[in-house]
Amino acid sequence: MERLVFTCPQTGRDIDVGIRTELQTLLRIHANKVIVDLCPCCARRHEWLVRDAQLDRAA
Ligand SMILES: [Zn+2]
Repeated sequence: MERLVFTCPQTGRDIDVGIRTELQTLLRIHANKVIVDLCPCCARRHEWLVRDAQLDRAA
């Protein structure tokens, strides 16, 4: 399983949005899906495309 990690456009910090998935499956089906989440760094809502996620292997 892999974690979806996005970059906060306000602070430039990496945000773990708490989604754990098989990334290849997610990219195949939902590459253009928009994820909206409240950012823990700046407390604003951001929209990210799944395909813009950085990969981070979960333990
Ligand atoms: Zn943010």
